[in-house]
Amino acid sequence: MSLENSQHGQTLNSHNLPELDEWRNLHIDQQPTWHEHPDYPSSIQELSSLPPLVFAGEVDRLRRRLANVAEGKAFFLQGGDCAETFNDATADKISARVKTLLQMAVVLTYGASMPVVKMGRMAGQFSKPRSSNDETRDGTTLPSFRGEMVNGFDFTEEARAHDPRRMVRGYHTSASTLNLVRAFTTGGFADLRLVNQWNKGFTANPAHARYESLAREIDRALKFMEACGADFEALKATEMYVGHEGLLLDYERAMTRIDSRTQNPYDTSAHFIWIGERTRGLDDAHVNFLSKVRNPIGVKLGPTTSTEEVLRLIDILDPEREPGRLTFITRMGAQKIRENLPPLVEAVKSEGSKIVWVTDPMHGNTISVPSGYKTRRFNDVVDEVRGFFEVHEALGTFPGGLHIEMTGDDVAECLGGSDPVDESAFLDSYESLCDPRLNHRQSLEIAFLVAEYLARR
Ligand code: PEP
Ligand code: MN
Repeated sequence: MSLENSQHGQTLNSHNLPELDEWRNLHIDQQPTWHEHPDYPSSIQELSSLPPLVFAGEVDRLRRRLANVAEGKAFFLQGGDCAETFNDATADKISARVKTLLQMAVVLTYGASMPVVKMGRMAGQFSKPRSSNDETRDGTTLPSFRGEMVNGFDFTEEARAHDPRRMVRGYHTSASTLNLVRAFTTGGFADLRLVNQWNKGFTANPAHARYESLAREIDRALKFMEACGADFEALKATEMYVGHEGLLLDYERAMTRIDSRTQNPYDTSAHFIWIGERTRGLDDAHVNFLSKVRNPIGVKLGPTTSTEEVLRLIDILDPEREPGRLTFITRMGAQKIRENLPPLVEAVKSEGSKIVWVTDPMHGNTISVPSGYKTRRFNDVVDEVRGFFEVHEALGTFPGGLHIEMTGDDVAECLGGSDPVDESAFLDSYESLCDPRLNHRQSLEIAFLVAEYLARR
């Protein structure tokens, strides 16, 4: 198979780097069964010759930004769908999500008095690990939905078949999503004053009155900046990065290119790639493959994570102990975080590594309601965030960021919030194909709560 082209500097052939293929001989979980599919070779071939979605220089810049987070000088915000879908890659939905992330970031920037590194769980979040390979409905058993880069959501044999051409569609959908994200964040849409106007809309809702004073302070700060002659032309643009779970190694490997300047491999499917809770086995394929690329890497850590695992993950994924290289995204559950997180943080602290610590307050707090919906209670999400801050405060370490499943739309998937969502709204407004997301208002409310907390520190 001929792989990457080497014409114009950015990307060179990477098939002469055998270490990028070591994972093929290792244990691997959660993969599609499509290797015998007639379209598999041509799909991989096509992905390998398509242009990179991100460039090495951007990835390196993100690593430097995350190094600031590791040093306690910046805060990290990651948010987006549990699973993106091809049909929802529309201008309206993408802009609503980007808008919500920008609104959250302004509030957090003010609260933390620090830059916020902004990242969408976006432009590539199309594959999902599942607890079961199959799903049975009314006596019929079919393969589980694994994200639109693998199969379709409809409960038919045809839709649920694993189809490698979906990776190519995933690439193109990621490319058009990323194009819009770049346009929005550099084309005037991210103007601080505009974002602040949107936040005023949020606090105008009487349910959110308690956040009005913080919003007013931000408003005054902006007016002060303007009066001092701050260059708002320069402030019209912002940096936004994208990341997704690096689950489908066929896709990630095919998107990996050698940077001609440094000769290092970069996974050009996204700036940031994380390894999920279910695929972080120390000797397994995902950890092995992602240890070989230069991108900043995240690892989800659930409640059963041991200190030995954490230390070994650092050795394997960050052998040079490079600040910004490794982010631990903890998802313990509100009930467990205060007990289970401290030993991990202490182990890393005594080892001396500069790791970015992020809280994912979603995945440890998923419940099912009798009507069958998967949901999360807003109060549990907030409680896990509080627990995360408490643990870091007690240990003198830096609570570096927030990783949430959210949307910019008015969906009803998570319960509660000041303008509460209740179960009766699920029937009409539950849209997620996978895990429940915070809606626009719930997302902003989290940002205000975290900002209040950061401001008090
Ligand atoms: C996810 O982020 O959607 C996910 C599956 O998370 P985790 O790996 O933490 O379970
Ligand atoms: Mn999820």
